Amino acid sequence: MTNAASARSDVDFAPLRDALLPEKALFPGLSRAGSRIIVPGDADYEVVRRVWSSHVDRRPLAIVQVTGVADVIATVNFARENGLTLAVRGGGHASSGYGTVDDGIVLDLSPMRGIFIDPEAKTARAEAGVLLGELDHQCAPLGLGAVGGTNSTTGIAGLSLHGGFGYLSRQHGYTVDTVRSVQIVTADGELRTASRDINPDLFWAVRGAGANFGVAVSFEYQLFDLDQNIQAGAIGFPIDRAAEFFALFNEWAPGTPETLYSEALVWYQPGDDGEPTDVPVVALSVVYTGSDDLDAILAPIRAFDEPLFDDVAPTTYLIVQKQYDETIHHGLSMVHTFGVLPTLTPELIDEVLTGFLATPSRHTLVSFGHWGGAMTRPAAEPSALARGTAPWRIVCETIWPDGDDAGANIAWSRDYWNTLRPHFADETQYLNYTTYADEETVRRAYGEETYSRLQAVKRTWDPENFFHVNFNIVP
Ligand SMILES: Cc1cc2nc3c(=O)[nH]c(=O)nc-3n(C[C@H](O)[C@H](O)[C@H](O)COP(=O)(O)OP(=O)(O)OC[C@H]3O[C@@H](n4cnc5c(N)ncnc54)[C@H](O)[C@@H]3O)c2cc1C
Repeated sequence: MTNAASARSDVDFAPLRDALLPEKALFPGLSRAGSRIIVPGDADYEVVRRVWSSHVDRRPLAIVQVTGVADVIATVNFARENGLTLAVRGGGHASSGYGTVDDGIVLDLSPMRGIFIDPEAKTARAEAGVLLGELDHQCAPLGLGAVGGTNSTTGIAGLSLHGGFGYLSRQHGYTVDTVRSVQIVTADGELRTASRDINPDLFWAVRGAGANFGVAVSFEYQLFDLDQNIQAGAIGFPIDRAAEFFALFNEWAPGTPETLYSEALVWYQPGDDGEPTDVPVVALSVVYTGSDDLDAILAPIRAFDEPLFDDVAPTTYLIVQKQYDETIHHGLSMVHTFGVLPTLTPELIDEVLTGFLATPSRHTLVSFGHWGGAMTRPAAEPSALARGTAPWRIVCETIWPDGDDAGANIAWSRDYWNTLRPHFADETQYLNYTTYADEETVRRAYGEETYSRLQAVKRTWDPENFFHVNFNIVP
């Protein structure tokens, strides 16, 4: 097996086409979508080759959209037997662009959208093409919720395989902590179950370094009781008060209940059309699923200064999960950088603000979050996720629209991260919020002990490194 991408135009896809289930042909007269292969020249090739972040501009030999497990197996076997590089795509959100590849095959799971909920056990099994908003939608009428991310269009697959944090995480942990089992097609083309009792080494590894071990076809999640009527919103202040506001946030956030998700961020305030205005602000964004008096919890924030805006109000969980969809939308370009922090020092805050005000793009945002609670407690079910012990995290989302200078934005993002890096507690990386990482960075992100253990699991399940379009664990 080679792991070098080969530019090939001579691949005969006919055997793969014959192996798939094209439902239109199977049931003539019924317009049911089936699995299909899209190659350059097909009408929608230019659309389906794209992922969320538009600066990722790769040209696969083919995109295979599959409706079921048999077609996943056929595609894995076809790629392996023909020495072709395989990229696997769930929701396509990864800013690394690993949901696509030049001159290889993209296995696109987006047609696999089944969600099956057991209300007694409070569990859900969801197929790997499901987006977070779809899972939330099915859970809501049952008074249940899943630990997902903060954007409804993120895929459950990439999120669940590499961490997953959102509004419920301080209370219930990362998404990986809620995964009870994964069904996965491994490099030999076999469908396996990975759970605490079945293939436990694989279960440990896929929850944190998942893309390395196979194609996950479905996930079983633990759900939680969730009253859909919650409170959420943002309170904003002038950017020239940002340093003092971050200092207040540093004092205030650790003492808040675990049912409160909060982050303090600097960004250019979006206008009514969702586009950034030219007014930078510092803001506190909150989502509260608890039942204590939120006004009392927010009192120190409101006492800080006269706010520019304060729209914290009753709403629903489904509305909140979509609140950034218009502002941070498909087709923008994004580079993620991430670091963990012991505390927010004045020196760090100064560097954060100076750098932010020099960003080439008004779409860029920088946020601090307190990842305490269940995110820093040991998980009931250990996983490969590098969770670190430092309670604070900083995330910079360098975002720019089509037509802006990608090189200038990427360079700014790199320089910004290098400036902030000396303040980080350690090398912990949240790989869902990482765009660029070489082998050494991936090794350091997991830490030596976890990385060595991942290598051993990789040698068992994928010794030829067939699955290598990812933050790679070198076997
Ligand atoms: C706008 C936006 C908001 C975000 N918000 C959050 C957030 O709130 N919380 C958070 O934790 N993260 C967040 N993220 C990051 C997100 O979790 C990661 O990008 C995640 O990997 C996306 O998963 P995906 O399936 O959509 O992406 P993809 O690009 O499809 O996949 C990501 C990685 O997983 C692999 N993969 C995908 N599906 C499978 C599969 N079925 N089997 C094996 N490997 C697979 C891919 O090959 C790739 O390496 C956000 C990203 C964006 C762009």
